[in-house]
Amino acid sequence: MASRPFIVGNWKMHGTRAMLSEARAIDRAAQRLMQVEIALAPPFTLIHPVRREAEQIGVGAQDCHPADGGAHTGDISAAMVADAGAGFVILGHSERREGHNEKDKLIAEKAAAAFDAGLKVILCCGEPMEKREAGKAVDHVLRQLKASLPDNVPEAGERLTVAYEPIWAIGSGEAASIEDIVAMHSAIREFLVKTFGEEDGTAIRIIYGGSVNPENAAEIIAGDEVNGALVGGASLSAESFMNIVLAAQ
Ligand code: PGA
Repeated sequence: MASRPFIVGNWKMHGTRAMLSEARAIDRAAQRLMQVEIALAPPFTLIHPVRREAEQIGVGAQDCHPADGGAHTGDISAAMVADAGAGFVILGHSERREGHNEKDKLIAEKAAAAFDAGLKVILCCGEPMEKREAGKAVDHVLRQLKASLPDNVPEAGERLTVAYEPIWAIGSGEAASIEDIVAMHSAIREFLVKTFGEEDGTAIRIIYGGSVNPENAAEIIAGDEVNGALVGGASLSAESFMNIVLAAQ
């Protein structure tokens, strides 16, 4: 089991250089909060500037292309984000699965490319409301997770993080209940141990995302098998993000 909670801010398509002051404030505050591992995933355009400013926090990307390079106008490879200073990449976010029609197989290819480029991966999974209402949330998430993993995950315990993000909870202001989060994380843990063995399977972090805010963060992060949080809206201001980090320590 990872010793420090992992709190990651996903800035999505928010942020120009004016937002660097928030990243600086987060980094400064992080220097006094070493009990929590803190990271930001800004848009591609801010990866390098945030990396240059930040001494303490991790910096990552929100996507990468599966190919090393080539004729893919508008795309960015895993090696490029690594070169810009990213240490990890978020893959399989529901906004990419929906907005860009990304399927599990493509996500697995992107993850393989990211590992090859030396990056860590935060692999997202989560069910739509219909699946939860039909009692099929766990089945759906485990099937998605299995299909989105590449055949080879090097140093899985260290380099893979799973983010459970129920689609209906993202950006809705309504996080999943702590009971549902804990039940899903324990099912994911069981799957990870079966897939990667006891040592790596228990070391892989499982973080929760979906309307995490300074008010609900302490309860969520204290949940069994909850190793941190992936935070969208509430990561855009240093103040609310750091209040979540404080709740996690
Ligand atoms: P939210 O987003 O915190 O705004 O719900 C979480 C995410 O999509 O990663």
